[in-house]
Amino acid sequence: MTREFVPGRLDVNGFAEAGASISGSEFVRSYRRLHAELLEPRDDLAVQWAATGERRSSADGSAVPWVHLTARALVPMVCQRCLAEVDVGLDVDRWFRFVSDETIAAAEDEEAEEDVLVASRDFDLHGLIEDELLMEIPVTPRHEVCPEPARLSAIDPDFDAAEGEKPNPFAVLKQLKSDEGK
Ligand SMILES: [Zn+2]
Repeated sequence: MTREFVPGRLDVNGFAEAGASISGSEFVRSYRRLHAELLEPRDDLAVQWAATGERRSSADGSAVPWVHLTARALVPMVCQRCLAEVDVGLDVDRWFRFVSDETIAAAEDEEAEEDVLVASRDFDLHGLIEDELLMEIPVTPRHEVCPEPARLSAIDPDFDAAEGEKPNPFAVLKQLKSDEGK
């Protein structure tokens, strides 16, 4: 029988034991904390994620649940250099090891290379996906190369008019000369 695993209430031990995989794609707006980081509310952006469970043996021979999580999202933010919009790609690719309680998790998370979390039968995978994406947000988002200040001449019908209003250089020169003579 194939078991159904629900990301909002994941049975971590069962998921790892089954070596199961789940994946999903949801709107960024359904991740409220992440959505709050956006330059402005957007309805079209998605978070894509995938998780795979795996059971490994620990040193003492007991079975330990592990979960591999990947998640990605593109979020528009403000470039801290040019203050224009910059699309920041958030990319998560991490392993998590699950232990039975908070005390062990806190003690082992310090030393372990992987993240150590507390296993439960109703683990909130969406919460973890959101936490991890939030942690990927750069402190100072910016373009790799900032765009030139926008020049809309090609599509701006007022451009020619604006150009026409520029003072004629010869007229300026004439004006200067006449000012000199005063
Ligand atoms: Zn920039």
